[in-house]
Amino acid sequence: MAKAFIGLGSNLGKPQQQLEQAIQSLRDIEGITVKTVSSNYISAPVGPEGQGDYINAVVAIETVLSAEQLLDVLQEIENLQGRVRTERWGARTLDMDILLYADEIIDSERLKVPHREIANRNFVLLPLMEITSEEFQIPGQGALLDLLAHCPDNAIKKL
Ligand code: ATP
Ligand code: MG
Ligand code: MG
Repeated sequence: MAKAFIGLGSNLGKPQQQLEQAIQSLRDIEGITVKTVSSNYISAPVGPEGQGDYINAVVAIETVLSAEQLLDVLQEIENLQGRVRTERWGARTLDMDILLYADEIIDSERLKVPHREIANRNFVLLPLMEITSEEFQIPGQGALLDLLAHCPDNAIKKL
């Protein structure tokens, strides 16, 4: 059994409902137990301009799936909810990223864990801190509070 953290984001097609539906899909999967769900946060988009604000949240799970199997499941859920991949970082109905998987450091073609942008995104660090603690350690990178202190200040609000 591994503990993992999933980052969710949406800025198309009723974002709050997209997140709710995605979390329900996680609950419905055998081999995944949803332990904690953060509040929703609203943040300004990264990447191409002209897209709407994002709703973000972080979910803690326990799973018997490997990290790669978990990525398969997340991509299936994204596809089910109509994710279309056009431009990089463009608007999307649903993004589900593996932020952390146990205390593993993974660096494969398909999968980098901890998520490679984790330290640069307060829309990930803040909800993660809400459901863990300020002292919570990111493998290889230090405590959450220290990461937040050095993180760019994207406009973000807890809903
Ligand atoms: P970003 O990675 O900057 O958040 P994104 O989430 O929009 O961008 P996607 O289009 O969702 O990027 O995914 C692109 C690829 O990233 C996926 O096909 C997947 O193989 C790869 N990837 C690498 N590490 C991870 C991870 N930790 N979680 C999810 N996908 C990952
Ligand atoms: Mg992402
Ligand atoms: Mg992604």
